[in-house]
Amino acid sequence: MLSINCPVCGSRPSGEFAYSGEPSEDPAATTSVSAWRRYLYVRPNRPDWTTERWLHVAGCGRFTVLERHRTTNHIRTMTSLSTDGPRE
Ligand SMILES: [Zn+2]
Repeated sequence: MLSINCPVCGSRPSGEFAYSGEPSEDPAATTSVSAWRRYLYVRPNRPDWTTERWLHVAGCGRFTVLERHRTTNHIRTMTSLSTDGPRE
């Protein structure tokens, strides 16, 4: 099982967290349907590093942004965010 080191609570199993997607800018409200479809469903799946948001739902309730390797699940950086939500 993947272990995530919450900056507030320490190392916890990933089951305590909810995956909250990749931090990126949401398309503008006026963006076309096809651009929204690409934003929501088309994601790269390369064997390299990805940046992800995780919410510690069974702990402090804070968002954490981490860099995880898609092949090895190695985590190299983490940043704690506020409880306000995924927007930074
Ligand atoms: Zn926590």
